[in-house]
Amino acid sequence: MNIFRKCDEYTLARETQAAGLYPYFVPIEESTATQARIGGEWKIMVGSNNYLGLTHHPEILDAARSALATYGSGSTGSRLLNGTLALHEQLEERLAHFFHKEAALVFTTGYQANLGAVATLIGRDDHIFLDRLDHASIVDGAKLSYGRVHRYPHDDAESLSRQLAAMPRDAGKLVVTDGVFSMEGTVANLPAIVAAAKAHRSAVLVDEAHAVGVFGPTGAGTAEHFGISDQVDLIMGTFSKSLASVGGVLAGDESVIHWLRHHSRSLIFTASMPPASVAGVLAALDIIAREPERRARLWANTVRVADALRSLGFDIGRSETPIIPVVIGDLVRTLQLWRALFDDGVFTHPIVPPAVPPTSCRLRVSMSAEHSDDEIDRVLEAFERVARTMVPA
Ligand code: PMP
Repeated sequence: MNIFRKCDEYTLARETQAAGLYPYFVPIEESTATQARIGGEWKIMVGSNNYLGLTHHPEILDAARSALATYGSGSTGSRLLNGTLALHEQLEERLAHFFHKEAALVFTTGYQANLGAVATLIGRDDHIFLDRLDHASIVDGAKLSYGRVHRYPHDDAESLSRQLAAMPRDAGKLVVTDGVFSMEGTVANLPAIVAAAKAHRSAVLVDEAHAVGVFGPTGAGTAEHFGISDQVDLIMGTFSKSLASVGGVLAGDESVIHWLRHHSRSLIFTASMPPASVAGVLAALDIIAREPERRARLWANTVRVADALRSLGFDIGRSETPIIPVVIGDLVRTLQLWRALFDDGVFTHPIVPPAVPPTSCRLRVSMSAEHSDDEIDRVLEAFERVARTMVPA
């Protein structure tokens, strides 16, 4: 069989393009923290992960410019060889402290951080337990590992406990959960998951990608929010959301981080995070520590939009985070609604199979601390207009 035959036969994306309903790879020509210019028109961005709205913060841009001047445009090498800058080490020290852990290791993306933890730590005789809705990078890490992969029903600590109990007591075990689930906008029941894991001598890794800057007294995520950072063995974070950059981190015990530094293939066989991005994250951490009111504004914006969408009759599921799914159901209707909002100046994301079941297609709305009242008014007015034409009461 010709390996390229499937490419010739793949028509879905072109059909969707021809129908004017193709929502992907939309080129942004210019942006602010809350708006994007696309095809010459400014759209209000409620489809980013810029929770604290820091992407255009002057202090972060200055820090990035200064790092460019000091170190150049790229590290041109692996962390292991010529790609470790003093800045990477500063960032690791800061992040260990931020996540209440002994040590931290910075990767080039969050995706690679998850691969680096899961694929590296799980050996042939080990077992890994994943929430059904865990992020793809965790699933891919599990696939790359040589261990036995188990999936438990979403956020179901009792099922997890039963699965763990069926394993040999001394087998190596790791439970991995997202702290915030990125398509549902829900928070993991971390205390129950951690209790189940600990009762069966399993280690725990929590992916705090969507929780950093959003949850916890200092913005360190859900483990900090529940006061159980010390019981979570490894914390994963990404810089591509609240921290307004790109890159990822694992934080944990010094001996584990030391071992991962020397064994993670997704750390060793790729170039390190570019200097401007590292400096940007350092500056973002300063701002997060100094301006807790940003988190308060994010939550005020979130509550306002969630309440308003509910009173317009939209189904926003169990959302309890700045990620607000607007569940429409049918695929075509979801794409039509996305397009109507886009034409009305509002940038959302349609979430369709395989990310969600075919009857549960949705738009994903995500809020930022920087959204102004006026921008939120315009978003809600657009939703009200489409609700009138498209969504049954
Ligand atoms: N984990 C989760 C839960 C995510 O949502 C993402 C990004 N969508 C990642 C990991 C990967 O992060 P990055 O963008 O830094 O590769």
